[in-house]
Amino acid sequence: MIGTSKKTFQILKKYNFNFKKSLGQNFLIDSNILNKIVNSASIDKDTGVIEIGSGIGSLTEVLAKSAKEVISFEIDGRLLPILADTLAAYDNVEIINKDILKVDVDKIIKEKFSTCSKIMLVANLPYYITTPILTHLLENTSLIDGYVVMMQKEVANRLNAKVGTKDYNSLTILLNYYTDVEYLFTVPKKVFVPAPNVESAVVKIMTKKEKDIYIADTEEFFNFVRNCFAQRRKTLMNNLIAISGKDKKESLLSACQSLGIEPSRRSETLTIFEFNKLHTDLKNREVIK
Ligand code: SAM
Repeated sequence: MIGTSKKTFQILKKYNFNFKKSLGQNFLIDSNILNKIVNSASIDKDTGVIEIGSGIGSLTEVLAKSAKEVISFEIDGRLLPILADTLAAYDNVEIINKDILKVDVDKIIKEKFSTCSKIMLVANLPYYITTPILTHLLENTSLIDGYVVMMQKEVANRLNAKVGTKDYNSLTILLNYYTDVEYLFTVPKKVFVPAPNVESAVVKIMTKKEKDIYIADTEEFFNFVRNCFAQRRKTLMNNLIAISGKDKKESLLSACQSLGIEPSRRSETLTIFEFNKLHTDLKNREVIK
């Protein structure tokens, strides 16, 4: 097994590999955690799995044993010869040397996983881009059934935060629109090499079959929501003024009044339904584009 402390250090030494902190390289060296992650994803021999960040293949290997096919994206070209060696025994794994943020994941799924009945994304994410990855995938893919992902605990807590709490933000709203989130377990720093600065958590995110609310243009809507959280300490009204300009203050006030939304509230107290009403109303009034 690749993902043990002994084996990992052997591989790192053999290839004289130096970690790139800037790429979020914290490799897993605990077989229990690796198995726990894969078991949580309910993968079987009909499942196609997308992985982000192969590293030296620790998680990829465990995935390959359970899944039909695994496609793993790894941005760091230095890892390719290592992976060719560590994963040589698995003919159901393909490593793609690309930045996940630039990949059309649905296109890859259509091309490569046509015979799979379920598609899961499983990853020990590179923490420096956890939010961009989740945003990119949720906004641009529709073929992934669910995700089991390791991320920094602080971000995991935001994903299913309750409205009105300090953890509730635009990411919470995005996740809540597309998915059901379950916090699975906390992971200590010591199961990684090198150990990250923060605690980690594994989260299961299942794509909703039916949405709770209809949003016509999700890209526009979520940009609006993100802008409403741009200055967290300020009121909703101050954020709205920053979006549309001081000269729109009267229209903004009258929109809030007509919707029963107190303009002195902070964005973290608004539900997705309130944001949607506000966005639609401000567009109708041509206060925002
Ligand atoms: N899966 C391995 C493990 O659990 O040991 C490695 C996980 S490590 C936290 C994250 C991996 O993602 C690194 O190998 C890093 O090079 C890779 N990575 C970083 N940014 C990436 C990106 N934009 N696209 C694809 N892979 C990326």
